[in-house]
Amino acid sequence: MPHRYRRDRRCRMSVTNTVDAARLNLLLNELRLPAIKVLWAQFAEQSDKEGWPAGRFLATIAEHEIAERGRRRIERHLVEARLPAGKTFDSFDFEAVPMISKAQVMALAAGDSWLGKGANLLLFGPPGGGKSHLAAAIGLALIENGWRVLFTRTTDLVQKLQLARRELNLEAAINRLDRFDLLILDDLAYVTKDQAETSVLFELISARYERRSMLITANQPFGEWNRVFPDPAMTLAAIDRLVHHATIVEMNVESYRRRTALERKRGPGRPPSHATPKTVAD
Ligand code: ADP
Ligand code: MG
Repeated sequence: MPHRYRRDRRCRMSVTNTVDAARLNLLLNELRLPAIKVLWAQFAEQSDKEGWPAGRFLATIAEHEIAERGRRRIERHLVEARLPAGKTFDSFDFEAVPMISKAQVMALAAGDSWLGKGANLLLFGPPGGGKSHLAAAIGLALIENGWRVLFTRTTDLVQKLQLARRELNLEAAINRLDRFDLLILDDLAYVTKDQAETSVLFELISARYERRSMLITANQPFGEWNRVFPDPAMTLAAIDRLVHHATIVEMNVESYRRRTALERKRGPGRPPSHATPKTVAD
């Protein structure tokens, strides 16, 4: 009875496949290969149908696992970076800061030319000029390019390092920050007087010098930095280390918030704000 025999065989095969699949899923769990676990059945079917050599099937699913790992790593790096939301290059109007070369910023956002050697980037300019936005956009692009970044307000980080110092853990806390290729310290000049009396910021700068990069934003270029460090000699030493290998960008533009508010008030079809006399009231 050939007909019955065929049906039996089909039945046996499908049972075997189910058992194989269950076993394989357990093995893939054990090996921590979640992408292959999701994808193997679909590729196995294609492979069977198209008669792929076994090597091609294996390479294809391995490639998917690697690509998925890369995506998950970048997702983790995005979470740990604590970037402010929505501050991207797409939402940044480069025309508002004509002194900045977009090409230069894009080169910095690739990271290779400076992060490998621990060079720094310093962004100076008055409040509202887009320093934090630009810093965050650069950080985001760097993460997408595979680098690890931490964005923090300088006062928050100084507070954490002060706590670590009180617990005799400062060195370990600074070492833990080594995992970040770039540390973005937003608003350096907002370090408070009591924070300035400890030298944790100086120790951080010294520890990263020529090894790990920092991006620092500040309203005031170096003139006002005496407030940030315990004494003038330390201020000089800190500046010396920071600028030794650094790109310095001055964003001396009118507050973007104020500009856009004025433009809204003026309505469409009127002259843009940069053509407006300085006497316009706030
Ligand atoms: P700063 O850090 O220099 O004080 P911010 O980056 O916080 O300035 O900018 C203030 C606000 O204006 C933010 O909401 C920011 O997104 C926006 N902004 C500033 N500059 C620009 C720009 N060139 N293009 C788009 N938005 C900008
Ligand atoms: Mg800011």
